[in-house]
Amino acid sequence: MARQTLAISILCLLSLTALSAQPTLPDPGGMTDEPFTEISGSDYGPRNFDKRTDRDSNPHKGIDYKIRDNIKGRAVEGGAVTNVQIDKKNPTASYISIGGVWSYIHIATNTLGCQIYAPGTAGVDEQGDPMPASNVVVLREEKNGVWRTTTVLGAEVGSFKDPKTPDVKSVTTYVSSRSWVFLAHPNQQHLHLQYRQGAENPLKYVLHSDSNTPVAVLWPKFKRIGLDGQASDFSDDIIFNTFQSLILQAGVDVTGDKDLDKVEISYLMEGDFSSATLNGWAYEPATTSGSIKSTWAPAGKIHISSMVPIASASEEGVYPAKNVVSLDFFKYKWDTRALNAPATGFLSAPLNSMAKYPDGRYMIQMGAIDITGHTVSTDSRPPDIGYSSSVGNTIL
Ligand SMILES: [Zn+2]
Repeated sequence: MARQTLAISILCLLSLTALSAQPTLPDPGGMTDEPFTEISGSDYGPRNFDKRTDRDSNPHKGIDYKIRDNIKGRAVEGGAVTNVQIDKKNPTASYISIGGVWSYIHIATNTLGCQIYAPGTAGVDEQGDPMPASNVVVLREEKNGVWRTTTVLGAEVGSFKDPKTPDVKSVTTYVSSRSWVFLAHPNQQHLHLQYRQGAENPLKYVLHSDSNTPVAVLWPKFKRIGLDGQASDFSDDIIFNTFQSLILQAGVDVTGDKDLDKVEISYLMEGDFSSATLNGWAYEPATTSGSIKSTWAPAGKIHISSMVPIASASEEGVYPAKNVVSLDFFKYKWDTRALNAPATGFLSAPLNSMAKYPDGRYMIQMGAIDITGHTVSTDSRPPDIGYSSSVGNTIL
């Protein structure tokens, strides 16, 4: 039986391409052009914790900022107030939408500093009409021991006579960038910032910690899946093995920037000029429950686990390290005995001439790209390379 082996090369394999746009919007907590680094809880993409409620999303559709207590949350971009939503089942999920694209979720609904009123719940205005006409967010501040109304935000124009202060305000239907738009709900203590309902990562537009090199540290691994179903480290150069299938694992550490976008695993066979993608994963759009976009659907399934079980896990998919923000692992089973074309009666190639990955030397490259286009890639191979009996068009 001949062997297939892996060899190292310096060719660039990855098809990951960079975006040109760079973020310019101020972060919602610092309200300055400096990156606000306190992204806490969850980044965009697969969830890193397994506390589930029916409102939890996995993948996570936005960015959680540590904007708590009475820290003023600011609009990252100006625009019309397009929606004030009161979630009656789960008040902590209430939100305000601005410009039709940005949603600020987990706003306080019933505090003096930040309160939401549904139509007709705030009494009547000076003309005797029920207030408000549509949902509003009322923001108040204490000045010299007296609470005053700062702003009333809503999608419909009107006037609002605040039942808790001496003030009458007209409803603000358009806010400018950096203006105060919410306080965090006391039971949530963070802002969930979401863009286009999760279709895009907010960090594409919002300033954040975004170091150029390295954006990520990759940990490539080849592993065998043993008869016990556990993956263990690869210890020789043979990728073809009848009884033990192969699993490739990329580990990506983006804990500094928290802005991972895509990961890809490719191979190049010696003698070929172009590489082929084995599998790619993309975090956008974060809208499909329980999985992220992948070239091959099963490899997009999200598994939440801690580091030790991740190391020996043999299921394909994405493994965000539990309780760590932006430390994610990606696993893909490489069927090195795959048929080149469907053949009646065969599940795997019995002959080299029928193999999709025939005898030869292969290089594997794993790469990652962040949401602003910084890439990192690394070649990978098993620890011991022996070419002696491996090259040639021999029978598998
Ligand atoms: Zn969130």
